Amino acid sequence: MSAHMNEESLEALLKISKQEKRDAELLTKAYHFSKQAHVGQKRFSGEPYFNHAFATAYKLAELGMDTETIAAGLLHDTIEDGEATEEILKKEFGDDIAFLVEGVTKLGKLRYQGIERHTESLRKLFFAVAKDIRVLIIKLADRFHNVQTLAHVREEKQNRIALETLEIYAPFANRLGMGELKGALEDAAFPFAYPEQYKNITEQLRDRKNIKRKHLEKINRTLQKELAAHGITDFKTDYRIKHTYSTYQKLLKKEKDIEKIYDIAALRIIVGSVEECYKTLGIIHSLWRPLPGRIKDYIAFPKPNGYQSIHTTIFTGDGDIVEIQIRTEVMHQEAEYGIAAHFAYKEGDIAASDGNALNKRLRWVKQLSEWQKQVHESKEFLEHLRMDFFQHRVFVFTPEGDVIDLPENASPIDFAYAIHSDIGNHASGAKVNGKFTSLDTQLKNGDIVEIIVKKSSMPNQKWLQYVKTTLARKQIRSALGKHTSL
Ligand code: MN
Repeated sequence: MSAHMNEESLEALLKISKQEKRDAELLTKAYHFSKQAHVGQKRFSGEPYFNHAFATAYKLAELGMDTETIAAGLLHDTIEDGEATEEILKKEFGDDIAFLVEGVTKLGKLRYQGIERHTESLRKLFFAVAKDIRVLIIKLADRFHNVQTLAHVREEKQNRIALETLEIYAPFANRLGMGELKGALEDAAFPFAYPEQYKNITEQLRDRKNIKRKHLEKINRTLQKELAAHGITDFKTDYRIKHTYSTYQKLLKKEKDIEKIYDIAALRIIVGSVEECYKTLGIIHSLWRPLPGRIKDYIAFPKPNGYQSIHTTIFTGDGDIVEIQIRTEVMHQEAEYGIAAHFAYKEGDIAASDGNALNKRLRWVKQLSEWQKQVHESKEFLEHLRMDFFQHRVFVFTPEGDVIDLPENASPIDFAYAIHSDIGNHASGAKVNGKFTSLDTQLKNGDIVEIIVKKSSMPNQKWLQYVKTTLARKQIRSALGKHTSL
C-alpha cells in the first residue's frame, strides 16, 4: 500500500469493494469523515494516521466483507483517536456501523500484560463478538496492519503486540477459518516475538524450500498429463509454501527434525467437484506410493474450523517425500477467507449451497458467548479458552457414526460427557475400536468409542487428572460436590 493517500486510493477501495452506487456513497462518506477525524495525527512511522484506517478498510474489502464492515473499518479509530462520539456516528452512519466502531473501540483498551490480565478484555471481546461477529473481523484487520508496521514501534511494545497477536488474534482468525489471515498475522509477529528462533528457522528453510519446489514441479508436470488422460480437464494447480511460524510450531512437535516436516511446500490441486477430488487422489496413488497413515480426508471429516481438503503425502521416487492437497474452488475460498467468504455473496448464494460451514462457525461463536456467561472466575475462563478452543482437535465417533469433536489427548470420559451428562456420570468403562480400554486412554482421530454405563457408577476424583474438556471437569466437580455434601 502506498503511503500517499488521495482520491485514487478511494477509487481503489471502491473498485475492490465491488459495491453498488448506494454503497459507494456510504464508503465515500466514511472515507472523508475518517480523514477529517484523523487530520494532523501521525503514526509511529510518521505517516498520517488515516493511512492506518484506510489499510484496515482495504484489508476488509480484500477479504470480501460487506460495505458496513468496510465503512466501520475506515471509522474504527475515530472515537478512540479522533473527535467522534458514538452519537455522531449513529447520526451520520446508522446504528449498526456505530455499534461496530464502538465494539472495536472498547477492545482498543486491550493490553497484553501476561495472559491473566488479558481476560477482562477478552470477556468484552466476546460480548461484542456474540452480538456481531464483524467486530472481531474488523479487529483482526486492524491488527493485521498494526503488525505489518511493527518495525516502527518501541521495542518493548513490539514484543507485547507480537505475543498478543500469536496468542490471541491468530488463533481467532484460525477459528473463523481465515487461514490466509492467520498465516499473515503469525508470520508478521514471529520475528518480533521470538527473534532468535525466527532467524534460526529462516536459515534452515531457505534451501529446503527450493529443493521441495523442484520436486513438486516435476510431479506437477506428470500429474497434469495424467489428469487430462483420465478426463479431468478443468483443474488448477499451484504450490503453497508453508508459513514460517506454522513450520516453527510443527518443528517444536517433531522433536526439531526438519526432515520430518513433509509439507514445507505442497502441491495444491483445485478440481471441479468433490467426486473429482477422490478421483484425483486415486490417480495420484496409482502413480506414486503414499506414505502410510498420512492420508487425511478433511472432505468427509472437516476440521472444526470448517477446513476441507484431501491431503496425501507421497514418495517422489527420487528420495523425497512431498504433500499434495486436493480441493474444490469453494473449499479453496473457504480455506483462505473462512467466515469472510460468506459475507462476499448476497444472501442465498453461497449461504444456500454451503450454509453448513457457516452454521458451524456461528455455532462456535454462540457457544463461546454462552460459555463466558457461565464461567465466573477470570483465570478459569482464560484457561478453558486456551484448553478448549485453541487446542488441536481430534474427531472420534460414536458406534452410530456421529462425529464428536474433542481437544487433543481427550479421554473416553470427555467423550462420555460430550454425549450426555448422565453417560459421563455413570461411565464405568469404555471400548475403543471394539476393545476394552481404561478410561484414561488418550483418544485418537477416527477412534470409535463406546461407553459402558452402570447405574451404580459414580464420577471419580482421579478423572479430574486426565479430562481435557471444561464440560467434563465442571460436571465431575459438580457430581463430586453433591456426593461429599451428602
Ligand atoms: Mn486501529
